[in-house]
Amino acid sequence: MHNRKLRFDVVVVGGGTAGVAAAIGASNVGARTLLIEKNPYFGGAATHSSVLTFCGFFAQQEPIMQVVGGVGDQVLQELRRLGIYEGPYRNPNSGNVIVLLDAEATKYALDRKVMEAGVTPRLHCQVIEAHVDGGEVQSVVAVDHGGRITVEATAFVDASGEANLTALAGGPVRFGDHEGQVQAGTLVFRIGGVPSDAPLDRKLFEAAIQKAKQQGVTSVTKERGMVLRLPGTRDVLAMFADEDVNGLDAASLTAAEMSARHQAWSYLDIFRRYVPGFEQAYLVQTGPAIGIRETRHVIGEYVLTGEDVINGVRHPDAVARGGWPVEIHRAGQPAIYHQIRDRSFYDIPLRSLRVRGFQNLWCAGRIISCDPIAFASARVMGTAFATGHAAGVAAAYYAATKTVDPAAVRHELLRQGAYI
Ligand SMILES: Cc1cc2nc3c(=O)[nH]c(=O)nc-3n(C[C@H](O)[C@H](O)[C@H](O)COP(=O)(O)OP(=O)(O)OC[C@H]3O[C@@H](n4cnc5c(N)ncnc54)[C@H](O)[C@@H]3O)c2cc1C
Repeated sequence: MHNRKLRFDVVVVGGGTAGVAAAIGASNVGARTLLIEKNPYFGGAATHSSVLTFCGFFAQQEPIMQVVGGVGDQVLQELRRLGIYEGPYRNPNSGNVIVLLDAEATKYALDRKVMEAGVTPRLHCQVIEAHVDGGEVQSVVAVDHGGRITVEATAFVDASGEANLTALAGGPVRFGDHEGQVQAGTLVFRIGGVPSDAPLDRKLFEAAIQKAKQQGVTSVTKERGMVLRLPGTRDVLAMFADEDVNGLDAASLTAAEMSARHQAWSYLDIFRRYVPGFEQAYLVQTGPAIGIRETRHVIGEYVLTGEDVINGVRHPDAVARGGWPVEIHRAGQPAIYHQIRDRSFYDIPLRSLRVRGFQNLWCAGRIISCDPIAFASARVMGTAFATGHAAGVAAAYYAATKTVDPAAVRHELLRQGAYI
């Protein structure tokens, strides 16, 4: 085992939607950028937990308005080129505007965008230490099967989904809401063998689950989940198998993965018995990993509030827009939604992406500095692309100038096609 040493201008930890956007945004400024991801592909929850719908690219109003451009939009255009993206889709069940995905196309589109931008990618690589001096992160230590890799950089972005870099650096974080409660985890599963004309009205599934429960089935949780057809296939995605899980703890995750897999098989059995069109259905895939909605949050220079979100508040240092309603999941319960005023959008200020007490550390994606209500909106992937893009540009700007200038960050984001 040997200890390798690298030096970059910007290091991004986590290659979900936020981290990919951060790395590309930083590289577009001219920063030598390293993107570190522990999975074998980029995409985070989209590719690793089959969350195959981008929410937050569009506000919910009519006519539909796109609120995320920049790197996120370039990924959409790459998906269009691959024949996956044909424009926004208003879900007939919820009325919300989403983008339907395909996992393999998403992996490939993200690979291509990362390489085109000149980012240095490291898959199969996990950050396990951070070294801090004088209010700045100086370096991180990552591991692969070959041993340790020490990476120094001038600026860092935490896009780990769990605020891992900030926690390793001893920065300010909060677990869950103000009482330490987190939103439910959900194992998404994919069912094949469903004819393309089979109706997917959520009431059919609810009735089937209620019937099974009346007959004594106790191995399933949620009655009202989401079922979506994956375009061009006989497959549907089912989001029902909720678990109360601590996504930071391997023991809790192990129990949740096993329990949720048991649920997936039970739901399949119920659908085969009671939902028309599902008689020949089979399980194509679970996960791969249970989807974790929430663990740690970064405490930033500004904590975005539920009032900011619901009232569509504008900020002078706005660097991203959120257009998804507040969406709260409690295990086994139907999702609760609160719409943004006029079904429009709110601003996310640069201050919510700066980790309090650190000069050179930014956060992006579902960990940005939010109260529990604001988090329930800002966590979605369209918005994660936008906050990632902004954090990456801010980090690159800091690496070049050693200063933070919101006006300059906004100017560069506009140059890169962001909507702010
Ligand atoms: C069940 C479920 C359903 C959802 N439904 C939707 C939906 O329909 N649409 C939508 O837009 N959003 C949805 N969301 C929310 C959304 O998926 C997440 O909030 C979003 O993926 C956040 O993006 P991110 O990049 O911040 O984090 P993530 O997607 O979690 O990515 C973080 C990445 O960092 C990597 N990482 C973490 N720590 C390290 C480390 N130390 N070293 C190296 N790599 C590391 C992880 O492997 C991961 O790839 C859902 C979430 C769940 C769980």
